[in-house]
Amino acid sequence: MTRARRFFLETWGCQMNELDSQRMAGQLMQQGILPTREPAEADIILLNSCSVREKAEQKVYSRLGEYRLLKKDRAHLLIGLCGCVAQQEGERALARVPDLDFVLGPARVGELQDVVARRRAGERVVATGFPENRAYDIDTVSRHGEYKGMVTIIEGCNKSCTFCIVPQTRGPERSRPSAEILREVRHLLDYGFREIELLGQTVNHWREPAGEGDFADLLDEVARLPGVDRLRFVTSFPRDFTPRMVAAVGRHANICPYLHLPVQSGSDAVLRRMGRGYTRREYRDLVEQLRRARPDLALSTDLIVGFPGETEEDFAQTLELVREVRFAVVYAFKYSPRPGTAAPRLTGAVDPEVASERLQRLFALQEGIQREINQSLVGRDFEVIVTGWGKQPGTQTGRTPCHRVIHFAAGSEPVPLGGVTRVEVESAFPHSLLGRRLERPAVSA
Ligand code: SAM
Repeated sequence: MTRARRFFLETWGCQMNELDSQRMAGQLMQQGILPTREPAEADIILLNSCSVREKAEQKVYSRLGEYRLLKKDRAHLLIGLCGCVAQQEGERALARVPDLDFVLGPARVGELQDVVARRRAGERVVATGFPENRAYDIDTVSRHGEYKGMVTIIEGCNKSCTFCIVPQTRGPERSRPSAEILREVRHLLDYGFREIELLGQTVNHWREPAGEGDFADLLDEVARLPGVDRLRFVTSFPRDFTPRMVAAVGRHANICPYLHLPVQSGSDAVLRRMGRGYTRREYRDLVEQLRRARPDLALSTDLIVGFPGETEEDFAQTLELVREVRFAVVYAFKYSPRPGTAAPRLTGAVDPEVASERLQRLFALQEGIQREINQSLVGRDFEVIVTGWGKQPGTQTGRTPCHRVIHFAAGSEPVPLGGVTRVEVESAFPHSLLGRRLERPAVSA
């Protein structure tokens, strides 16, 4: 009996990369090529990369260096570099890694089968750039092991934040028509998903491509579809939030009370140099409007420390903003200069040790805030969507509507992945909650 062919796929970066990986896995599985967790068993290795910070890019090159050694014993093994580093590097990646077989940019994910076939026929393929017509077959996305159904609504980014490489790696903005988006959401609901996550680098900048309508209208349409128990969207750009969108978030109880709203800095001077197009005051006003519309809203944010020219006073303003807003989660990064962006030309580079020390102070502050917020949830109970098994035997893990991680004992009837149960919070840590699954209420006769 011949052995089934296998692929190994490693993913870094944002939710859009996760979904691109599901699309690539699905295309290979359609050809009878099965997933494996062992690179040494694979006939195809795909690295779906992120280039938002230099470290992520270095990691993918070091992995390529490891995996190419597997070719010694497996001459037929194909190795493909995919994702944002693929788009950024193109031909350069083939020159740098002699055993690399192909390079596939994010806008070319739908062409994987064709690229693999071309490589088998002898061509070292570089498929990058942003073609007008892009293959996207919703039936071949492999969503196994997922509790939520992700749907890209807008690709690319038209902003010009001076630190960010995304507009280069994901190309110009391109909204998908609402009819296509709604068809994909219905397809996911038919499949059994209860949580839908709309994706875009600037998700709230979605516009109906040929007609009227913006993200507020799309939220209304998706939230009203029967079967959407939880609706989330990521990543929102602060300046693109309109009062109509805020009202939509307030109107639909099935829009999760959790929003990721990257602020990047608490200092107006730094925000200006970053080219973000809003001030600290405007960000705070938006947070107030959102909290008025949804008092239970949990907010998360991204922050960059050590941006060129950031003084101790600028950083103090970031700490102050974090104290004022009391984010549920903060994702904070040391500034990393990226090729082709404007920020590396700015003066006032911050010493990396100073940036590291600021990052530690920021994490310490946020950890205390998270501990307090999570502690205040003890004794409350939440509807929890189950995302997997816990690390401790007999436990399961899930997410509350405000996206907090909660662990609980599975009991004699574990909840299937993507299923829903009610859990009371018994204890709290900065990054997770521990709870007790409530018995189902007795059904009265
Ligand atoms: N499109 C979103 C936005 O503009 O808010 C998110 C873009 S990026 C995929 C995710 C996060 O990575 C950013 O919000 C930012 O905090 C961080 N990031 C992007 N470029 C960076 C850089 N050059 N150095 C450090 N962090 C960076």
